[in-house]
Amino acid sequence: MADNDLYRHQLIERLEHEKRAAQAEIARAQADEARARARVSEKDAAIASVRAAREPQADECKRCRFEFGRTSVLRPMPSKSKHARFQCALCGAEEERA
Ligand SMILES: [Zn+2]
Repeated sequence: MADNDLYRHQLIERLEHEKRAAQAEIARAQADEARARARVSEKDAAIASVRAAREPQADECKRCRFEFGRTSVLRPMPSKSKHARFQCALCGAEEERA
């Protein structure tokens, strides 16, 4: 009988250990889900902001207007091609214009 009790006790201990491991897995999965949901919210906010941005002026950096909601006037850069090159001083984006 004592033998059965010991067996039962050890089996329960092992199952409790496996249960704690599964609970830890749930906690990690929930943390992953929370981070993924936060990223979805960030992207929704970013999409709404891009949609709401006004049209950039002709001499304005598109990236700064659409992505960062700020105004930055492009500066001319030396160019070897027949197209004029411009660069944004704030974000570094480059544009080529005919
Ligand atoms: Zn820019």
